[in-house]
Amino acid sequence: MQTPAAILLDMDGVLFHGTTRLPGARRFLQAIASIPHCFVTNNPIRSEERVAAHFAAIGLPTPLPSRVITSARATAAWLASECPGFRYFAVGATGLHEALAELGTEDPDNAEFVVIGEGPGLDFDTLTRGLNLIVQRGARLVCTNPDQSVDDAGDDGVHRVLPGGGALVAPFAVASGVEPEYVGKPYPRLFEMACTRLAVDAQACVMVGDRPDTDIAGAQALGMQTALVRSGRFAPGRRLPDGVRPDWDVADLPQLLAVWDRAFPGWLAGGA
Ligand SMILES: [Mg+2]
Repeated sequence: MQTPAAILLDMDGVLFHGTTRLPGARRFLQAIASIPHCFVTNNPIRSEERVAAHFAAIGLPTPLPSRVITSARATAAWLASECPGFRYFAVGATGLHEALAELGTEDPDNAEFVVIGEGPGLDFDTLTRGLNLIVQRGARLVCTNPDQSVDDAGDDGVHRVLPGGGALVAPFAVASGVEPEYVGKPYPRLFEMACTRLAVDAQACVMVGDRPDTDIAGAQALGMQTALVRSGRFAPGRRLPDGVRPDWDVADLPQLLAVWDRAFPGWLAGGA
């Protein structure tokens, strides 16, 4: 098996659960420090800076914000490539609004894109506005990520399950009869942005994640090597969904370091 040129890492369920650091996370990040890597998350709520600050707050080595790619950032970059200077109407958290505002212009009356992500703001009025932009003005319906629910630790440190982008975009899709276009995992756009950022081909990357349906299935479809860690949403012993075949299927990060160190001698700093 070819030694990967770069590593993409999911975070929640891999490195931490909310505010709880998972076993071996710090050691793992030290071991891959000199290998090109970046952190990819479907969660559009936190900005890259807030994600980096979260690492520091729970005692992990702090990544450069440029090494973090959220679905909000990938959505903004994709819309700018589709339509430079795009106009949008967005429903979601601050992180989504900030990312979109950097590359586009908010325009609730003439938006070309109705963009939905996790966060507050969905009510009858926003649904009505988005619906009319789609059915009357031909706006495209875009969603940051298809997750039905996501894990999040609020600023109070309490772990919650939040409705995901896939749940929040559903009323717009049902009301308009238009299928949303998704950016986050398992769709390719977030992965592709990470590869572009790292200047590597997808086939030269390995993706590490805790969800077979998004992290592993999406990366596998792009020809990446894949590692499933069963420390998050997918518990040890559960049967993999049909067609999902991670190259490594391990309990946690220490086990992944051990198998990688055998597979790729000298690749990891300090060995396993
Ligand atoms: Mg995860």
